[in-house]
Amino acid sequence: TGDDDVVIKILYCGICHSDLHSIKNDWKNAKYPMIPGHEIAGEVTEAGKNVTKFKAGDRVGVGCMVNSCQSCESCDKGFENHCPGMIFTYNSVDRDGTLTYGGYSSMVVVHERFVVRFPDAMPLDKGAPLLCAGITVYSPMKYHGLNVPGMHLGVLGLGGLGHVAVKFGKAFGMKVTVISSSPGKKQEALERLGADAFVVSKDADEMKVCRRVRSSNKT
Ligand SMILES: [Zn+2]
Ligand SMILES: [Zn+2]
Repeated sequence: TGDDDVVIKILYCGICHSDLHSIKNDWKNAKYPMIPGHEIAGEVTEAGKNVTKFKAGDRVGVGCMVNSCQSCESCDKGFENHCPGMIFTYNSVDRDGTLTYGGYSSMVVVHERFVVRFPDAMPLDKGAPLLCAGITVYSPMKYHGLNVPGMHLGVLGLGGLGHVAVKFGKAFGMKVTVISSSPGKKQEALERLGADAFVVSKDADEMKVCRRVRSSNKT
């Protein structure tokens, strides 16, 4: 364990669609042997001597990156995802030249900067997908101010990311409309996820409603 590292016993790991692309080498950058998984949830078993944020027994998570240069302008601003020295959780070459291995494993060692704490009320199994699918939606919503109570939010497509956009939107107090090409998703959108409205994108009359809502947001 390095001085800044946290050792994590992995208890759950979400399955991201990127994992499927990676194992099939769809992006032509696969490095084998590969261990996918970047929605990691588990428990700290050991912490290096410089680690201040975590101790053994803490419930933690790791997302899709495990290191960056930690000294460039992007890193200073908290945009480690734009760092030229960013290292992905798996299928990436680490500082020492070895490959990084992901969360479909029993343990992982990660620099404390790239470890997040799970709130007590958040179950590890249910929270794991927030570490990639969740943050992919939450971060831009916060950054672009799409978190204002009463504002109308249109969610285009109700898949892995779309369904969390609905949940975040409702948690922010927004009025959420799901726009989908699949009429069969109406029940899930309205009843299970709590969306306020559902529009079938192939239906021109229904889409007219969206145009009116869009102009009402411009206040
Ligand atoms: Zn992912
Ligand atoms: Zn950097």
